[in-house]
Amino acid sequence: MKKLLLSLILCTLFVSVNAQTLKKCHTDEMMKAWFDKNPNAKAEFEKRQQEAKEQDAIAFKNGYGQQNKTMVAPTYTIPVVFHVLHQGGAENISDAQILDQVNILTRDYNKLNADTSVVVPQFKNLIGDVKFAFMLATKDPSGNCTNGIVRHNNPKTNWTNSLSDYIYTWPRDKYLNIYVVKTIASGAAGYTYLPGTAPSLAADAIVVLHDYVGSIGTSNVGKSRVLTHEAGHWLNLSHVWGNTNNAGVACGDDGVTDTPITRGYLSWPSVTAAAMFCNACIVEYYQNYMYYSYCD
Ligand code: ZN
Ligand code: CA
Repeated sequence: MKKLLLSLILCTLFVSVNAQTLKKCHTDEMMKAWFDKNPNAKAEFEKRQQEAKEQDAIAFKNGYGQQNKTMVAPTYTIPVVFHVLHQGGAENISDAQILDQVNILTRDYNKLNADTSVVVPQFKNLIGDVKFAFMLATKDPSGNCTNGIVRHNNPKTNWTNSLSDYIYTWPRDKYLNIYVVKTIASGAAGYTYLPGTAPSLAADAIVVLHDYVGSIGTSNVGKSRVLTHEAGHWLNLSHVWGNTNNAGVACGDDGVTDTPITRGYLSWPSVTAAAMFCNACIVEYYQNYMYYSYCD
C-alpha cells in the first residue's frame, strides 16, 4: 500500500476553542481492539507498513520533495457518500453543511487553505499538495442519480462502535463512505481504519459526529478539520507520533520520512517547547492534520 508521500499540513488557528472540551479521533483504539482479537491482521498490517516505510525512505533519499515541485501530479477525484443517521433532531444536518465539508476536504488536499501562511519556517517547503479532489457521488451503486447524501431515520445514530452499525455502506472500492451520527459510544469525534485493516468490508468507512462536519450549521471552523484528519487515515496516514501510543507519551514515527519523530501534542505547543524533545537537534513538527491538536 503506497503511502501519501507528503504530510498533511495544517489546521486552523482558532483561538476561542478549548482543546480539552473537544473530542478526538479513535482510529488507533478501534484498530487496536480489532488487532487484539486478530493477531494475524496486526502482523500483516505491520509488515505492509514496514515495506511502505522502507520505500518511502528510499524515495525521500532520492529527493521526492524536489521532484514534486516540477512534476504535474494527476488529480484523483474521490466520490463521497454521506449516510446521515438521524432521529429528526439537529443531527440531521443540512445539505449545505455537508457540501461545506466536501469543499473543505478538497481545499485542504490541494493546499488551498489560507492558514499555510502560519506554518513554521522550517517546514514551509514540506507542505503537502496531495491533489485529491472530493465530490459528492452522483450515481448510487445501482447507477441511479443521487446527490451523495442519504438520510436514514434510524436509532443507530447513537453509534455503538459495533460492526453491525455499518448497515448502509456502499462499495468501498467506489466510494468514500462517511456515516454522520448523533453520538459515538466510545466518546470519539470520529474514527476509521487504515487501508486493509477494517474488520469488515462495510467498516471501511469513516464515522463522525454531526457537529464535527464542516464549518457551519451544528459545527464550526475549529472542528472543521476532523474529516481532513479521518480521510488521511482512510488514505493510510498514521498519527504523526505513530500508531502505537497516544499523543504526548513516547516519541514515535508515522512511517513518512518528511517529518521528524515526535511524541505528539494535544494542543499547539510554543515553538520552543516543541523544539528538540525527541531529538537534540531537530524541531518537532506540530502543525499537521494528523495530530490531535486543534491548534487553539
Ligand atoms: Zn486520528
Ligand atoms: Ca514522519
